[in-house]
Parts: sequence; structure tokens; C-alpha cells
Amino acid sequence: KMKSQVKEQILKLKKGKNAVILAHYYAPAEAQKIADYVGDSFYLAKIAKKSTADIIVFCGVSFMGESAKILNPDKKVLMPDLTADCPMAHMVEPGKIREMREKYEDLAVVCYINSTAEVKSECDICCTSSNAIKIVKSLNSDKVLFLPDTHLGKWVESQLEGVEVITYPGCCPTHMIIKPDDILTIRKQYPKAKILTHPECTKAVTSLSDFVGSTKEIMQYAKESVAKQFVIATEQGVCDRLKRDFPDKEFIMIKENIICPNMKWHTLQDIYNALEKEQHEITLDPELIKKSVTCIDRMLEVCNG
Ligand code: 13P
Ligand code: SF4
Repeated sequence: KMKSQVKEQILKLKKGKNAVILAHYYAPAEAQKIADYVGDSFYLAKIAKKSTADIIVFCGVSFMGESAKILNPDKKVLMPDLTADCPMAHMVEPGKIREMREKYEDLAVVCYINSTAEVKSECDICCTSSNAIKIVKSLNSDKVLFLPDTHLGKWVESQLEGVEVITYPGCCPTHMIIKPDDILTIRKQYPKAKILTHPECTKAVTSLSDFVGSTKEIMQYAKESVAKQFVIATEQGVCDRLKRDFPDKEFIMIKENIICPNMKWHTLQDIYNALEKEQHEITLDPELIKKSVTCIDRMLEVCNG
């Protein structure tokens, strides 16, 4: 009963304040259920760019909220929980990029959207897991620096001919828990299942999988496939959502506890509090916004966003 009251209040506040709620597939089910839009990081960035709302409530991690703010400097971007952050986003220092640019001449630099605004301001273009191959290809360069996710970078390299992708040793601690042995074991257990994997996993893991894609692409694959059984090798939230959306199919988590703790902080009560008090606002230096927006806009241009 309490929850339904909070829900009602959220809907009322949302209408009154012309707010929109965005949630990532890794966010808690209760946040996804109240959200206006749920998707992968690329879809959510596109939605943020097009939004006509005055307030954007982002149930995701900091880099997602920051990207929404960079694309909408005049809007209020609120995070239900301001401590929800992605550790990978902090694994590279902007100074490192300048160092690498000095070392290699004419180096094209791509950053994963899972990065800080400071890092974005030093890079040529950004990408998400759903468009990384397309973005790297669009640069028409045979040498590309990709950061901070070394595994996504190396996966992109394996999908393109004649492109050397120099990576930086950043990674996602959650996806690192998935090991090649987990895939081999589950294959034996469920020989008919399709194994769907996020490209933040190591190449040893992705190369043993049936499909590699972003959270939204994994959802799409499961929806369209004639197969009935799927193993999910990404964060638990995707598996939970698939079970809710497609009760006639079977979804098995690759192993227990593949959880991005930061994504889970956003409760209904936090969403309500953020909207009501207009609290936990993402603030970025206007100069930094100007410097980092090109990187995201270029990605949207290449992908017709
Ligand atoms: P997606 O772009 O697939 O939503 O991935 C974001 C992310 O942080 C995965 O760990
Ligand atoms: Fe960051 Fe990994 Fe969480 Fe994605 S799952 S937000 S990369 S820590």
C-alpha cells in the first residue's frame, strides 16, 4: 500500500513539474516500472537529447546523468541517489590522453560513454557498447586509442579488419566476475541455450558466447529469437527484466551475484524525494559542458541520433 501511494505521488509530481524519468536496465525493477523510458546507455542519451521536459530524473550511474546534463545544460538533471557511480568511469585520467596524443601522431581517441566529463572533453568522439564498432569504423583510421574499457576496445578490434585499437587498462568490476569457465560449465548444463553476453566481458568470455551486444541488444535478441532458453552474461537486472517481459521463455543467469551495486541504489522513495525536493542535482562547470558536448554530439551524428 505504501508503495502504491509513493507511486501515485511520483506521477503527480512528474506531471506538475514537467519531469521525465529515465532508467537503465540495471536499475531496480521498481524504478524501471515507474520510468517513462528504459533502455541502454545509448538509447537513454538519445532520449535525454530530445527531451522537452524541465526536469530529468536519471535512475542510472553518474556518467549517464552527466551526459544528460551535457546535452541539456539548461535543464535540471536529478539523480535519485547521487552516490550511484560507475567505477570504470574513473579508471583513466584526462592527463593520460594528452600523454598518448604526444606519443602517437594523428591519434584518433574514442572514449566509452562510461567516462567522466573531463575525459570526454579530451576525446574526439564517444561511443556506447551498442555503437562502438560503428563509431571506430567511422573514424577511417588504422590506429585508434580506446578508453577506459580495454575489453570493449579489444572486442571492437576483433570485429574490424585493419584497425589497431590501443586500449587502456580500465574495466568493469561487475563483468569481470564472469570467467570463461562459467560459460563452458553452463554450456554443458544447458546445451540448447543461447548465451548472450555484454562486450564489457573479457574476449575469452565473448568469444565463447552466441551473441555479444549492449543491454538493449541482448533484450532485442531474446525477444526476436526462436530459441526458448537463454543464458544471460551481463548484470542481473537484464535477466530479471527478460523474465518479466517474456514469461514464456527461460532465462538463466550465467552465475549468481553479477550485480552493479551502484545501479541498485535508486528506490521509489529516492525518486520521490528527488522530485519533491528537486535534490541531488548534477552540476557541471559550464566551460566543461562546452568542451565535452562535441564528443557526445559527434556520436549522435554518426548514429543519426
Ligand atoms: P549498455 O550501453 O549496454 O546499457 O551498458 C552500460 C553499462 O554500463 C554496462 O555495464
Ligand atoms: Fe559501470 Fe560496470 Fe556498473 Fe556498467 S555494470 S555501470 S560498467 S560498474
